[in-house]
Amino acid sequence: MGCTAQDVITAVRAAAVVIQDHRDELVRLDQAIGDADHGENMKRGFTAVVARLDAEPPDTPGKVLKLVATTLISTVGGAAGPLYGTAFLRAASAVGDASELDCDTVARALQAALDGVIARGKAAVGDKTMVDALTPAVAAASCAEGTVAAALAAAADAAAEGANSTVPMVARKGRASYLGERSAGHMDPGSRSTALLLRSFADTAAKS
Ligand code: ADP
Ligand code: MG
Repeated sequence: MGCTAQDVITAVRAAAVVIQDHRDELVRLDQAIGDADHGENMKRGFTAVVARLDAEPPDTPGKVLKLVATTLISTVGGAAGPLYGTAFLRAASAVGDASELDCDTVARALQAALDGVIARGKAAVGDKTMVDALTPAVAAASCAEGTVAAALAAAADAAAEGANSTVPMVARKGRASYLGERSAGHMDPGSRSTALLLRSFADTAAKS
């Protein structure tokens, strides 16, 4: 059984709650090496996403992902808004108009999201960005077990490790790079939000 539009809506709503719950943590991380807006930016974006889902719930998984993309692009701002927007837009394109998502499609969507973030932000692994969480997540999202839940759980574990790996890094992209060596010793906020989103998607998939 694959993920329907309703399943994807449920996952996005749960992710919005997680982002809200972690708003202050993301603010603190961005305070250390940026401008302290990442938590508020993400919270504003996902609050707007939920409002649009309430008003007009889309009827395919691809349309849900596209709604998330366009809403994040128009409401999050900063560096992360266009990057997450591109990620969800590429994921939407990858799933097309399928009425249900199987594991292979979810894995393809994750890969497309990463490709989009890299195309847009030109960051590589080691630059201390969300790419450091998303790259290992995509690599770990195996469909060997066949279920979306297992693939997302592996992706979430890898993203968490990836976010932890940013702590000692010196930032080479984004606002944190202005700090040079002083950016070391702090987790990158975008890698943390990516890990939170993937953990939330995995948790929702495990419940369905
Ligand atoms: P801003 O840096 O404009 O204040 P946010 O605080 O919302 O925007 O988001 C910062 C996050 O965006 C960083 O923690 C990092 O993960 C991500 N980021 C910044 N620049 C890039 C980039 N070029 N490629 C990938 N991710 C990036
Ligand atoms: Mg910021």
